[in-house]
Amino acid sequence: MSEFWTTEVHKDIYEMKYKTLKKLFSEKSKFQQVDVVETRGYGKMLLNDGLVMITERDEFVYHDMICHPALFVHPNPKKVLVIGGGDGGTAREVLRHKGVEKCVMVEIDEVVINACKEFIPQTSCVFENSKLELIVGDGVDYVANTKEKFDVILVDSTDPIGPATPLFGVDFYKNINLILNDDGIVVSQAESPYYEVEAQTSLLKVLNRVFDNVYIYNFSNLTYPGGLWSFSFATKKYHPTKDLNTDRVKESELEFKYYTPDLHLSSFALPQFMLNNCKGLIKN
Ligand code: SAM
Repeated sequence: MSEFWTTEVHKDIYEMKYKTLKKLFSEKSKFQQVDVVETRGYGKMLLNDGLVMITERDEFVYHDMICHPALFVHPNPKKVLVIGGGDGGTAREVLRHKGVEKCVMVEIDEVVINACKEFIPQTSCVFENSKLELIVGDGVDYVANTKEKFDVILVDSTDPIGPATPLFGVDFYKNINLILNDDGIVVSQAESPYYEVEAQTSLLKVLNRVFDNVYIYNFSNLTYPGGLWSFSFATKKYHPTKDLNTDRVKESELEFKYYTPDLHLSSFALPQFMLNNCKGLIKN
């Protein structure tokens, strides 16, 4: 089969094209169109509804940065909840922390999980880990009904469309607040600071209605529109930079491809346009 371009159209303003060697998987699930393709430059790529979720080449950036800042700021994270994250990359990084006793992951779409199990072992290898409890279900229902409590919650969701829409709403975060321990931290996929100012600031407003301490930090990757992307960081107690204990990073003996303690600190330093957009919505 000859090579072709896989195109991601972004908000009807621009397109990204990836030279593709072959289509490995394509299925319309109850929730979304799920595709896995083998690209020439980025390895295997997962797309949900035509939007790039992960690629083998740069998934380490997103997964390091959704996970390690919170897991190194919290002094002793033992129980972690991942909402979404069906490729497995976020849970994989969580479970590299030896102190984590249990990671619960709630992904709504079994088709995403199975496609990644079959074609993207780089991230889905975590599904073999005995410390992972994988639940196929709606994260909104899970946080409303569970009796479990967590030290860290990571919301690794798609954009606020379809089943992910409530993951950006206040009711969801009120329930997150109830299942977070008293010194808990919640980190959420917070969209593009360039293209999604409205979605980003709306998430920060929602978090402010529930949490006293709300922050936002950035990372730069290869495949998300605009390159620069953000995570929100809401806490009941800890400060995202002042409470980083760099000794814990060293003692963990973990090796990273993106995360470093210096990068952790600098990722919370925002460009002026973001400080303007997020004025009154984030703490220093
Ligand atoms: N890194 C990615 C990004 O920002 O492009 C996110 C990847 S991960 C594949 C996102 C997952 O969230 C999807 O597989 C989707 O099925 C899942 N998801 C969406 N809404 C959900 C919900 N309400 N509960 C649980 N999982 C949900």
